[in-house]
Amino acid sequence: MLSEIIAVGSELLTPYRQDTNSLFITEQLNALGVQVVFKTIVGDRRPHLALAVRYALERTDIVILMGGLGPTEDDRTRESVASTLGVRIQRDTELLTALYKRYAERRTTMPDNNAKQADVIEGAEILPNARGTAPGQWLDIVFGGHRKLMMLLPGPPAELKTMFTSACLPRLRSILPEKHMAHRVLKMALLPESEVDARLAPIYTRYKDVETTILAHAAEIQLHLHSSKPTQTAAESRVNELAGKIEEEMDDLIFSSQNETLEQIVLYHLEMRGATLAVAESCTGGLLAERLTRVSGSSRSFLGGAVVYTNELKTEFADVPEELLEDYGAVSAQVAEALATGIRRKVQSTFGVGITGIAGPSGGSAEKPVGLVYIALADGQQTEVVEKRFSGDRERVRWWATQQALEMIRRKLL
Ligand code: ATP
Ligand code: MG
Repeated sequence: MLSEIIAVGSELLTPYRQDTNSLFITEQLNALGVQVVFKTIVGDRRPHLALAVRYALERTDIVILMGGLGPTEDDRTRESVASTLGVRIQRDTELLTALYKRYAERRTTMPDNNAKQADVIEGAEILPNARGTAPGQWLDIVFGGHRKLMMLLPGPPAELKTMFTSACLPRLRSILPEKHMAHRVLKMALLPESEVDARLAPIYTRYKDVETTILAHAAEIQLHLHSSKPTQTAAESRVNELAGKIEEEMDDLIFSSQNETLEQIVLYHLEMRGATLAVAESCTGGLLAERLTRVSGSSRSFLGGAVVYTNELKTEFADVPEELLEDYGAVSAQVAEALATGIRRKVQSTFGVGITGIAGPSGGSAEKPVGLVYIALADGQQTEVVEKRFSGDRERVRWWATQQALEMIRRKLL
C-alpha cells in the first residue's frame, strides 16, 4: 500500500512555518506497513489544491490531507476534494447543531462562517474532533477503478494527532493486512559514504525485501535497515540476517548496531575495562567533554579535563613545556602529544586525549591551514598522534575533531 500526505496551508510555503505533522503521520503509517511515497505541500488556492488531490489519488492508495478544515475563507480542503471527486458537499444538520451548542455553552454566538465546518463531502464518514471544532472526514471510495482511502484531518498538531490515533488508526488496522516491522541502525564513524556504499551495495541489493538507506551526517554513516512482514519474527530475522552480513564485511568499523552514539560506546568500553579518561582541549573548547558528559553515568569513566585555549593555560593545566610551544607552535603534533600525556599524568587517568588545531575561519596560514587538527591519545606507554585536515566551517571542524578522538579511543579499546 502506497500513501501520499498532503499538507495544506500557504503558511507552510513561507520561511516561517514547517510541516511537522507529516513526520508523525509517516511514523504511524510505516508502523502499519504503509510506505509514504510522496509528500506534497500546497497553498490554500483551490485550483492548486484540487490538482494536488488528483495527483495523489492517481499515484497512491491512501491520501491524507492535513489542514484547511477551519471556518475561514482560506480553508478550502473540503471543497477541493469534493470537486476532484465530482461529488457534492452537504451541510450536516447534526454537526451544525453541535457547533451551535458548543458556542452556546461558552455563552457566545457562533460567527456565521463557522457553519462551514459542518460541511460534509458526500459519502464521507465524520471523524469527531476531541480537541477542536473542525471535524475530520474519512472516505473509502473508488477512484479510477481502484479503491482509495482518504482522510481529511485538521492542521493543528494536537487535534491531528488525537484524531488520527483515535479514529483513523482503528479503521486502517481493520482494512490493512497485518504487518510487522523490524528496524536496525548500524553506525560507522569517519568513513566516506561512497566507500561504504561500494563495499555494501553488493550485499544489501540482494535483500530486496529489506529497505536499506545510507545516511551520512556529522562524521557518521548510518545504515538503516527496515523490513515489514506478516510476523514480527519474519521481519526481524530478515533484518538481522542482513545486519550480520554487513557486520561481517565492515567488521569492527561498525561501532554500533543498536543505535547507540559513539560517546556511549566509548564510555561502555572504558567501563568494561575499568579504565578512566581525561581530556585537554584547545580548538574544540570542551566539545569532547560535553559530548561525553551528555551520557548519563559518564562519571564512572570520564574524570574531566581542561579547556586550554591559550599557551599559558596549556602549560598551567596540562603541563605542556613552554619550549615545545615556542619551537613547534600551539598547533603541532608535539603539543597535541604533550596535552594528552600532560592531562593524563595530572589527573592520573588511564587515558589522556589532547586536541589542538585551527577551527577557522580565521587563523590559518599556508603552513597551517584552517582545518588542520592534531589529535593525540596517550595511555602511559605510548602516545598516538594523528594529523587531520578537516574541511568545512568552524562547527564542522570542531565536531569532526571530537569524532576522530572518540573513534581513536574506541579503536584502542577493541
Ligand atoms: P483551523 O483553521 O480550524 O485552526 P485547519 O484545519 O484549517 O484548522 P490550519 O489553519 O491549516 O488548520 O492550521 C492551523 C494551525 O496548525 C496553524 O498554526 C498551522 O501552522 C498548524 N499546522 C497546519 N498544518 C501543519 C503541519 N503540516 N505541520 C505542523 N503544523 C501545522
Ligand atoms: Mg485554517
